[in-house]
Amino acid sequence: MDHLPIFLRIEDREAVVVGGGAVAARKAELLLKCGARVTLVAPALGRAAEALGRTAAELRGRVRHVAEEFRPAHLDQATLAIAATDSRETNAAVSAAARERRIPVNVADDPELSTFILPAIVDRSPIIVAVGSHGAAPVLARRLREQLEALLPARLGALAHFAGARRRRVQQTLRPSERRPFWERILGGRIAAQVLTGDEAGAAAAFDADLAACRSRGPRRGEVYLIGAGPGDPDLLTLRALHYLQQADVVLYDRLVPEAVLERARREAERVFVGKSAGGCRGAQERIHELLIDHARRGLRVARLKGGDPFVFGRGGEEIRVLARHGIPVTVVPGITAGLAAAAAAGIPLTERRLAQAVTFATGHFAEDDALDWQALARPRHTVVFYMGVGQLERIAARLGEAGAPADRPAALIERAALPGERVLRAPLGELPRLARARNVSAPALLIIGEVAAVEGAAAIDAVVETLRGVA
Ligand code: SAH
Repeated sequence: MDHLPIFLRIEDREAVVVGGGAVAARKAELLLKCGARVTLVAPALGRAAEALGRTAAELRGRVRHVAEEFRPAHLDQATLAIAATDSRETNAAVSAAARERRIPVNVADDPELSTFILPAIVDRSPIIVAVGSHGAAPVLARRLREQLEALLPARLGALAHFAGARRRRVQQTLRPSERRPFWERILGGRIAAQVLTGDEAGAAAAFDADLAACRSRGPRRGEVYLIGAGPGDPDLLTLRALHYLQQADVVLYDRLVPEAVLERARREAERVFVGKSAGGCRGAQERIHELLIDHARRGLRVARLKGGDPFVFGRGGEEIRVLARHGIPVTVVPGITAGLAAAAAAGIPLTERRLAQAVTFATGHFAEDDALDWQALARPRHTVVFYMGVGQLERIAARLGEAGAPADRPAALIERAALPGERVLRAPLGELPRLARARNVSAPALLIIGEVAAVEGAAAIDAVVETLRGVA
C-alpha cells in the first residue's frame, strides 16, 4: 500500500482545476459538492461550460473562471490542484508548480504526475466508500464501485444519520461496555431495516423502546424475520433477504430451502430444520409456531426461511398472526415465488398482451369440496399456475376439461425450477399427466396451463398467436 487513503476536508478552501473540457467539469463538480471554492483555469471553457451550466445555481456561484493560459501563480492561494487538460506539457507544469508549493496535485489519467489519486466513489453521505487501484486499473476500480453500489442499501446514509443523531443519548444512557453490543444489535436488526425502508418514525419509536428496556435491564426483545428464500438458487435471494440472513442468531428452514441458500446465513447462526414443505399437517405447523415463539422469547433474532415467497402458499400469514398475538415483532421479506422462477426457466411469459391478460396462482392440493372456480380457470387466454400439483395432474386436467378447457390447451410442467436437475416438460393438457408419469416427474414441480405455455422464447410468440387466430 503506497498511498494513504484519507478523506480531506476542503470546505471553503480554494481548489484549482486546470482545463476547460468535460473531465475538468466533472472534477470541478466533485470539489463543489465537497464545499470547495473552485477556480477553473482555461483560456476558454468548452464542454465545461455546458456541464457546469447544469450544476445547481448555488454551487455555480462558487466557481470562478480565469480565462488565461496556466501560470504557476494561479496556484498561490490553492489548497489543492487538479490538471485535466489534453496537453501533457501543461499538465506537467501544473504538477511541478503544485509540488513546489507543497500542495497535493492530481493529473487526470496520469499517476506519475499526481501526488494523489481520486478514487471511484460510492456516495451514501455521510457514508462514503472510496475504491482506488493506485492508478493501475481504473476500470477495475470502477467495476468494483458498481458492485458496491448495488450491494449498499440506497438509504444507508439515512441510517448513518439516524445513528449519529442518537449517539449522545446512548452514551449518556449505557455503560461503555454495553454500547457496542447495543449498536451492533440495532444496526443489524429490524430497527435498521425500518430506517432503510423509509419508516423512520417507526424506527425512532422502536429505538426509544429498546433503549428504555436496556436501561431498565429488561429482557432483550427477540424478533422474527419471515424471509422468502426464492426457488432455491442463492443468486435469486433478494439483497434484503441476504441482509437479514447475515443478522440472524438462528435460522428455521423448510424442506424447500437448499443447503446453498443456508450457506448465505451468518456462520455462527444455529440452523433448525423444521421439516415440512407447504401443506404439511397441522401439528407440524403448530410446532413451528412454538419454536418461533420460544426462540424469540429468548431474545434471539430468528430468521424464518421459507421457499419462494412466504405469502404464496407458504402459511406465512398464520405465522405472523401467531407472533403478533405474542407481541413478537416480525419483518416480512418477499421472495421470488416458484411460479415466477418456473416461468423464467421455461421462457414462458405468464402474461402476454395477445395470449393472456390475467394469471392465477392456484393450489393443486385441493379437496373434493374445494372453492376453486374451475369455470374461470378454464377460460381461454388466462394463465393458471398450479403449485403442489404433481400428484394431482390427472384430477386437475379432468376438472379443467369438465369446465370447458380443450384437451389441446398448452401446458408445461417445470420440475425443480432454478435448482440442479431442472426439467421442463411441455404437452397439451390432455397428454401431460401420462407424459409426466412416464418421465417420473416429482415434487417440487409447477404446472403452467394456458396459451402462453406453448411459447418457447420470443420468436415463438407470434407463431402461437397465429395458431390462435386460426382456431378463433
Ligand atoms: N411459498 C412457495 C410455495 C410453497 S408450496 C413459493 O412461493 O414458491 C410448495 C410448492 O411450490 C411445490 O409443491 C411446488 O409446486 C412449488 N415449488 C417450490 N419450489 C419449486 C421449485 N424450485 N421448482 C418448481 N416448483 C417449486
